[in-house]
Amino acid sequence: VGELKVGALDDGGAVASTADGAVVVTYEWEGVPADAVRALEARGAVVRPGARPLEVAQDRLAEKELFSRLGIGTAPYAAVDDRPGLDDALARVGGPPAILKTRRGGYDGKGQCRIDSYGEVDGAWDALGGPGLVLEGFVAFDRELSVVAVRAVDGEVRAWPLAENRHRDGILRVTRAPSPFVDAATQAAGEEIGRLVADELGHVGVLAVELFAADGRLLANELAPRVHNSGHWTIEGAETSQFENHLRAILGLPLGSTAPRAASAMVNCIGVLPDRHEILAVPGAHLYDYGKPARPGRKVGHVTVTAPTEHDLAPRLAEVEAIIERAG
Ligand code: AMP
Repeated sequence: VGELKVGALDDGGAVASTADGAVVVTYEWEGVPADAVRALEARGAVVRPGARPLEVAQDRLAEKELFSRLGIGTAPYAAVDDRPGLDDALARVGGPPAILKTRRGGYDGKGQCRIDSYGEVDGAWDALGGPGLVLEGFVAFDRELSVVAVRAVDGEVRAWPLAENRHRDGILRVTRAPSPFVDAATQAAGEEIGRLVADELGHVGVLAVELFAADGRLLANELAPRVHNSGHWTIEGAETSQFENHLRAILGLPLGSTAPRAASAMVNCIGVLPDRHEILAVPGAHLYDYGKPARPGRKVGHVTVTAPTEHDLAPRLAEVEAIIERAG
């Protein structure tokens, strides 16, 4: 185990010291400044994944442009840098409903403003206005899915069964995987998206692409160049977890199987943790406590629940959700 080093990410010396004696450096948060990674690379450190996946994932416009370049569908989008530009962008995405988003720094639904009618345009500009925005047409999706994939040093890519995600207030609440709504063709299409993106970025390690399933098509929404919340179910639910395969990938080891072991679901604990006695009394349930102080809207833990079949999973998941709801 490496030595714990604590320092600011914009402190060049502190960042550089993380690479001292390290075989490989990795990150699991896309807020890491790409410059810090570039500086490590310039000193000869092996950083996997590198700076490029970070740069793209930190900018919603760059993400969308990457998807478009690869022939992957997205919501209609347009860059916005000033107030007249918002009117132009709205025309380009086909009018309201649309979502105005900051290109940088948004997460869990933050930095976003929905525009449902022309009368709401000024309000959205007042809320977020300034350069560095992107406007997206609203996608009336059937479901939200994600593909979590891992790419090895030699370019091999493996993907887990697509996860089906349910959000509330812009925050992921529940993931189910394998999703009963994902057929073989959708799985193949999702895996292809993961492979195209990982190859294009020269990514080594785990990445996730958040998807909308709409009218039988998959549209890409966002890229996460790291292990992902919608992949937490893999700890109990897959032959090899996303965490293990990330380590295997960055260390140049053979990838493990991404096959499912069970019908699985993951429920986030938002704000507070549920009663652990109640949760652990549910068959197949496992509780993860992140050890963070309770705070509204914050992910403080999650519960994974598995069952031999989809049919057996449904009541267990309902029970876990009810316990978590009661906790607040
Ligand atoms: P994001 O931060 O882009 O992941 O957005 C958070 C959530 O807002 C998504 O998971 C969707 O539920 C919703 N959302 C974001 N963009 C769109 C869109 N263009 N159309 C419909 N829903 C969206």
